[in-house]
Amino acid sequence: MSTFELSSQPHRRFNPLRNEWVLVSPHRAQRPWQGQVEASQAEEPPKYDPDCYLCPGNLRAGGVRNPIYRETFVFDNDFAALRPDFADGKSEQSELQRAESEAGRCRVVCFSPRHDLTLARMSVAEIQGVVDTWCEEFQQLGSQPRVRAVQIFENRGAMMGCSNPHPHGQIWANETVPDELAREIASQKEYYERRNACLLEDYLHLELEQTERLVCANQHFVALVPFWAVWPFETLLISQRRVGSLPELCSQERTGLADILRRLTIRYDNLFRTSFPYTMGFHQRPTDEVAYPEFHLHAHSYPPLLRSASIRKFMVGYEMLAMPQRDITPETASARLRELSETHYLEKA
Ligand SMILES: [Zn+2]
Ligand SMILES: [Zn+2]
Repeated sequence: MSTFELSSQPHRRFNPLRNEWVLVSPHRAQRPWQGQVEASQAEEPPKYDPDCYLCPGNLRAGGVRNPIYRETFVFDNDFAALRPDFADGKSEQSELQRAESEAGRCRVVCFSPRHDLTLARMSVAEIQGVVDTWCEEFQQLGSQPRVRAVQIFENRGAMMGCSNPHPHGQIWANETVPDELAREIASQKEYYERRNACLLEDYLHLELEQTERLVCANQHFVALVPFWAVWPFETLLISQRRVGSLPELCSQERTGLADILRRLTIRYDNLFRTSFPYTMGFHQRPTDEVAYPEFHLHAHSYPPLLRSASIRKFMVGYEMLAMPQRDITPETASARLRELSETHYLEKA
């Protein structure tokens, strides 16, 4: 097989973390759009909303009143998908119809008492408060006997199904290691055993050498559009030092994480001059008693927007039935994110 220019023809790229392929069709990037246009963002939310169940001092649906919190605030989700207090059990009707009990806990983290702020509009010190809270929660939840994995994530924007604009994230702690994480562990473990090296550490070194997919970086973290990105402006955030989880970061590294989260989310907002929707979350080593020397802390951001504040990518049709596909290349996406300012568009006015 001869080599080809990645920007010139349809091709597929391998995702070594998920062990799957993505179809890239760069020639389609200019095709006309006649589909759905989302309603454009309403005006700025107020600093405090009396009807918001996350604002300080307000009543939640479960009947509990929030304290007048001044920094980050964490509580058990009133409508938790997982509960810690059910017995262990199995339901095995046949080999093809199996179910197992799943214990766990779901927490909600309010990033700020301010209803109108997002990570992109908080200071580095304020975001570091969120990072510290994530670290404490990971440690506390992970040390509980029936918790093997702690998933920290943020679902932002109505387009992602998040109806409350109050800046908040979630933490789900599971009795079993969820499939997405298990899949990435298997790939990292296979690479580690075969090459005696860390997959994401090797990958980070390649990207730092090539530079064309980098978005922004500091001494402790690098944000890049991965070679195998599926979502148009998907990014991967990798720690420069190999650690398995957030609590292993020293205080300078936590500041570095806060700094890079701020800079990346500002770039996202500036891209289409909108409060950018996404699902962002960390992948960390499981919290069972096993060692995970192959595991490298990282975060994925999966934003749906494609061409403007209202034109989004859908994962339908071929993608549901066959494989993920993208039009603009990861190289074009990273170049667009790279050229943006790190001053938020609303601060400039
Ligand atoms: Zn609120
Ligand atoms: Zn991951």
